[in-house]
Amino acid sequence: MRQAQRFQCGPGSIIVPLMSNTFVNHPPEVEVPADNRPLVAPIYQSVKFAFEGASETLRFLRGDREGFFYSRNTNPTLRQLELTLARMQGRADCLLVGSGVATIAATLLSLCKQGDHILAFVESYGPTRYLVQHLLARYGVTHTLLSIEDLAGIERVLQQTPTRLVLFESPTNPVTKIADIEHLTTHARRAGALTVMDNTFAGFHNHGGYAVDIFLHSLTKYASGHGDVMGGAIISSDQLIAGMRKDVVSMGPTLDPHAAFLIQRGLRTYFLRYERECANALAVAEFLRRHARIKRVFHPGLEGHPQHLLAKRQMKDFGAVVSFELNGGFEEGNRFADALELFSTTSSVGSTESLVMPPQLLGGQEYTPAQREASLIGRGTVRLSIGIEEIADLIADLAQALDKAFI
Ligand SMILES: *Cc1c(COP(=O)(O)O)cnc(C)c1O
Repeated sequence: MRQAQRFQCGPGSIIVPLMSNTFVNHPPEVEVPADNRPLVAPIYQSVKFAFEGASETLRFLRGDREGFFYSRNTNPTLRQLELTLARMQGRADCLLVGSGVATIAATLLSLCKQGDHILAFVESYGPTRYLVQHLLARYGVTHTLLSIEDLAGIERVLQQTPTRLVLFESPTNPVTKIADIEHLTTHARRAGALTVMDNTFAGFHNHGGYAVDIFLHSLTKYASGHGDVMGGAIISSDQLIAGMRKDVVSMGPTLDPHAAFLIQRGLRTYFLRYERECANALAVAEFLRRHARIKRVFHPGLEGHPQHLLAKRQMKDFGAVVSFELNGGFEEGNRFADALELFSTTSSVGSTESLVMPPQLLGGQEYTPAQREASLIGRGTVRLSIGIEEIADLIADLAQALDKAFI
């Protein structure tokens, strides 16, 4: 059946003899001339796309023509964002999903089968460890959990245990350990294992030069940048993305076009924000390092960071997360966080405003004692995610809160 009659905008519009209650469900189409493009792509907030009749639809479904059909599969607004992110990360293609966690779940479910083995790390994002240790385990996928610093262990496991994939992050959360990417990818390739890197903390402009097979990003953080939208991106070669797309579309973790639009808009200021956040974070780390009440500071940009040189080799900058331990510990850390005025107490990173996670909220409760020791999360560890505010205001706030932590 034909769609609603086409309308031209302007004085030549046709008036069709439809009752209003019918007409509102077949609203007039406004066609923008091909030589009159909008500078910002419109949001295709449409679930369905129609062709002229069934035979064209069939041609599309058989893969014999271009087009869009159903937004769970893809949508022009999503496609623009996919192509942007793939290019930023230096890979051929991208697959969008509704959250960062969905990228991890979808990738693991799509790439693994019963009997496969995964190498993962203690210092990974909590839900990542949950997926590997609990959900995948239920489906007969085994794993080894090492510390990201255990280079000899990584070599040994990859030599001895047939492994489907290696799943890692860098810098890690919350104490910013740096994964040796060259070491990981070299040994994984030799063993025939895929490398999957959650690159959320470092961003799209980092690590693309390494032989990582699949990059995952939470778009909720630095990509969208304003803390008002969730999303996730799986970025890889044409071949791997094409293979995963069918599986992932069948799981249904679709990103909404409006969310994709907001993320695409956020990306316009991605580099400006990230640069400013990194500069602020380094200044905060330097301030904390010199402060008498602080026991140790974790930030890869500090020369005293045990992997500063590795970070410098691998990254263009050092990220916007700073963690530290106060003298004293748990009580002081919590009092400090409560005394901050500019930093909101909440999870997440990568927003324009600064955030704090006090010791009583910082993860790791589910660690075994040995894992907790390897994680370097102390009883008094505080994590800061640094925003784009004026650095003098941030440092003044940190200074007054440190004073209050010790009264
Ligand atoms: C936040 C985060 C995620 C999860 O992203 P959501 O968008 O919140 O689902 C995954 N990995 C890392 C490293 C993160 O920081």
